[in-house]
Amino acid sequence: MIKIDHLVKTYGTNYAVDDISFEIKRGEVVGFLGPNGAGKSTVMNIITGYLSSTSGTVTIDGIDVLENPLATKKMVGYLPEQPPLYLELTVEEYLNFTYELKGCTFNREKHLREICDIVKITDVYKRVIRNLSKGYRQRVGIAQALVGNPEIIIFDEPTIGLDPKQIIEIRNLIRTLGRDHTVILSTHILQEVQACCDRIIIINKGRIVADELTENISRAVGANRRFNVKICGPQREVLAMLKSKPGIVYAEALTTRDGDANVYMIESDVGIDIRKSLFYTLAEKNWPLVGLESLGMNLEDIFITIVDKSSEVRGRRDVKKKKAPGKATIETEVAEAMLEKTAKTKPSEIAGKSPGEKK
Ligand code: ADP
Ligand code: MG
Repeated sequence: MIKIDHLVKTYGTNYAVDDISFEIKRGEVVGFLGPNGAGKSTVMNIITGYLSSTSGTVTIDGIDVLENPLATKKMVGYLPEQPPLYLELTVEEYLNFTYELKGCTFNREKHLREICDIVKITDVYKRVIRNLSKGYRQRVGIAQALVGNPEIIIFDEPTIGLDPKQIIEIRNLIRTLGRDHTVILSTHILQEVQACCDRIIIINKGRIVADELTENISRAVGANRRFNVKICGPQREVLAMLKSKPGIVYAEALTTRDGDANVYMIESDVGIDIRKSLFYTLAEKNWPLVGLESLGMNLEDIFITIVDKSSEVRGRRDVKKKKAPGKATIETEVAEAMLEKTAKTKPSEIAGKSPGEKK
């Protein structure tokens, strides 16, 4: 539905967007994740037609956003980083104004009422925007984006500056909208994409460094390799078994206990799911397994790894011939980076254990 092809945007000598290509299918909810200055807003502004590109194209349903901006703008609802609110207007006045601006031809009252129901602003409809809380203002901004029933909704950092309760409400709202819209959401908050998106595009210094399904991001870099296991049985023998078991590359006994079970931290070899065979081994030995908890890396670790690695890759970019642009996948560079990192790092450090916790 949205196709971005070799997009470049420069400001002077600075590449805000440096050769980005990707496609978004109808109905996808895609998270654009990256640190401040990565180029997220620039890409969004180009997709929405607010900014022109230096080179490269953006098409929506095959229509070029630069060649036919009116047609593509009709398909896109946009909540910019700074919502374009007129603070002196009431919500009602503002949404009516937006309706006219977008040249809508629906049953106006019904259309606006439905939108207010969805974003839950019916109770503040008659109030002046200036007097609304930041959470409500953000909802009004989302309402504005929904006027005209666009198929695509683009949210630029929609929860920035909101309190935790408002953040959860806005995320729920985005999830609801994701059911029948194509959504692009930008954020520097990892939990946000995890909570809302099917797919994550990680962008750093104007380039895509990862493009994966949300569930794969964790898996691809080995989130299922470290576990805390709780086992009843003689600690020394259990630990010796864990250390010698094929497929386990690291094991240590932790000082924590759970009833009569000892807790161990294990790490399995790359590409091995140790859980079943560990269960059978323990059953054979008559050492009951009473707990198994994945210590998978959180997205934060993954993100830092990816961004670090991409900075290295970027440094080599001019020397090496370019690979397929915008298609650096987790499986390749990032997985390599992870392996390098885990090889250098003791598992206890990765799992966030302080030395004092070890036996
Ligand atoms: P993000 O939204 O990921 O924080 P932006 O897309 O806003 O990043 O910015 C990407 C880069 O482009 C940054 O280095 C920023 O300083 C630069 N940039 C953005 N807008 C302008 C502008 N109008 N003039 C000059 N540089 C800009
Ligand atoms: Mg931004």
